[in-house]
Amino acid sequence: MNNSLQIARILGIPIKIHISFLLVLPFFAWIFAIQPEPFGFAGVESTILKYSLSLLTAILLFVSVLIHELAHSYFSLRYGGSISEITLYLIGGVSSMKEELHEPSKEAKMAFVGPLSSIIIGIVLLAFTSLFNPPASFSDGGGLFLMIFILGYINIILGLFNLIPAFPMDGGRILRAFLAQRMDFVEATEKAATIGKIFAFLMGLAGLFMSFWLILIAFFIYMGASGEEQQVKNRYRRF
Ligand SMILES: [Zn+2]
Repeated sequence: MNNSLQIARILGIPIKIHISFLLVLPFFAWIFAIQPEPFGFAGVESTILKYSLSLLTAILLFVSVLIHELAHSYFSLRYGGSISEITLYLIGGVSSMKEELHEPSKEAKMAFVGPLSSIIIGIVLLAFTSLFNPPASFSDGGGLFLMIFILGYINIILGLFNLIPAFPMDGGRILRAFLAQRMDFVEATEKAATIGKIFAFLMGLAGLFMSFWLILIAFFIYMGASGEEQQVKNRYRRF
């Protein structure tokens, strides 16, 4: 992928960030800076502290997504698959497989460990914030406390959200694994991608009335569904 930069290599897999990330990261940091408590740092008086916490939260969100992707990759490698690279978008990652796991039950398990890892991270972070009393002021560590809460909350949402059976979410992969037991792999991918696109469209529509966030996420889902479908088609149909 030409639009990505390699930043590391873990488990022998090149870890790349998509170029859009360079715009999305500051954008997310800005969102965290303007959102009020408990989902942002608008209440922090010191400007430097506010933006440092916001940027750190955005970076750690990206680290959480990386852990989620590595969970997929680890299981793929364990099942004899191979991962050519992991490309990270802030809101999700794509692990590119050299070869798909053609055993649907293995693909379903590999898809499941990602959301599972997000949910575990989320539970651990939220458990931490509920076990201890938050410091009284933001400058006394209250800001860090709030950051842990936000990251825990977002990880739970990411985990649950990824279980929705719409491609390109992991739930979509689980769905494709079930469909692939009954039909051709490309056909199963197309069906799952179509469900993902319809879902994204409805979500974007709901977002117009509910929240800007939904529209943003719907956009990513739509792009992801199209991307995955195209990738599978390119790989299996040579013309
Ligand atoms: Zn995943």
